[in-house]
Amino acid sequence: MGFLIAGGIGFIGSHTYISLRKRFPNARLVIVDNLTNSTIQTLNSLMEVTGDSILFHQLDLCDEQAVEHLFNRYHFHGILHFAGYKAVEESVVNPLKYYINNIQGTLNLVKQCLHYKIERFIFSSSATVYGNGKSPFKESDSLLPASSPYGQTKAICERILQDVAYANPWLRVSLLRYFNPIGAHESGLIGESPTSLPSNLMPYITKVAKGELPILKIFGGDYPTLDGTAVRDYIHVMDVAEGHVAALEHVRRGAHVYNLGTGRGTSVLQLVRAFEQVNGIKVPYQIVERRPGDLASVYANVHKAESGLQWKASRTIENMCRDAWNFEKRNILI
Ligand code: NAD
Ligand code: UDP
Repeated sequence: MGFLIAGGIGFIGSHTYISLRKRFPNARLVIVDNLTNSTIQTLNSLMEVTGDSILFHQLDLCDEQAVEHLFNRYHFHGILHFAGYKAVEESVVNPLKYYINNIQGTLNLVKQCLHYKIERFIFSSSATVYGNGKSPFKESDSLLPASSPYGQTKAICERILQDVAYANPWLRVSLLRYFNPIGAHESGLIGESPTSLPSNLMPYITKVAKGELPILKIFGGDYPTLDGTAVRDYIHVMDVAEGHVAALEHVRRGAHVYNLGTGRGTSVLQLVRAFEQVNGIKVPYQIVERRPGDLASVYANVHKAESGLQWKASRTIENMCRDAWNFEKRNILI
């Protein structure tokens, strides 16, 4: 059994590697990544956590020849495709960077998938494809125009994979729409380590807690929510990782969409308070203007994933806060 993990040095891919290794102890797992948003340190940590001597190739998925060469070299039974750019705001400023990288990379992988008749393909999509619809979001909801080029790339890649699966009935595709993955592996060795200033909430909170950033700006205190701050469906990254193992095991012919969330909403202030309480550390914050494009409340309907994948997120907000801080703290000591 062999699986390709594209973008496997990144946040979700690296955690998924750990879950895959646990579930498939004898499988050949190959990681490719161009390290544009990750560092080789994560590879070393992955080897420490798993005890594996990892098969890694530094490779850009947009380099078609390099991708062809990779597929010549290894025989894969499945592809997990995490590789892509994900910064929403940057995608608004530099849309072509996103359209080229996220779509070209996917096309190159899909071409090889068809050429070698690799049956299983798992794609990292996002709740952002639901646009400004209404929570709880269901897989059957129509996709409204995403508010950013990033969101569009996810919707386009989903469509490409759906069309390709329709034309090639042997193909089994899972399109996993993540909500808000946060947290870290419980070892504290693997976590979220963006190479530039974080724009997502949890890595920002941990940097403020660590004293690397002075204050958390909470975007908007006047939303129609329980405390005025925006609500999201935060999910532990190890639950997301295990969702991929479930998706590989239950992947059916055709292209099938699943929400990976908990089905529960948590406000920004609730998350900050939980972080402070679990870790006994203060996170100074200030409520500022809303961030353009943000929705008041985004959370998942998770029934389809629970029944179709026989998977359910099990970790709590407290687990997420503890593990995220545990990882950041270890990094202070290094
Ligand atoms: P990440 O940036 O940590 O990991 C992505 C990895 O892909 C990085 O290591 C990066 O170096 C690599 N990469 C990017 N372009 C590449 C290319 N052309 N060739 C080879 N490697 C390339 O991101 P993540 O948080 O692990 O997210 C994984 C996937 O899930 C992404 O596609 C992202 O859009 C999607 N997603 C993430 C979130 C989230 O909140 N983290 C939410 C929804 C969807
Ligand atoms: N957020 C915030 N301050 C920050 C980063 C994020 O208040 O520094 C808020 C953001 O407005 C949103 C929530 O936290 O309501 C989650 O944002 P994130 O960027 O992590 O994920 P999104 O749901 O926007 O993809």
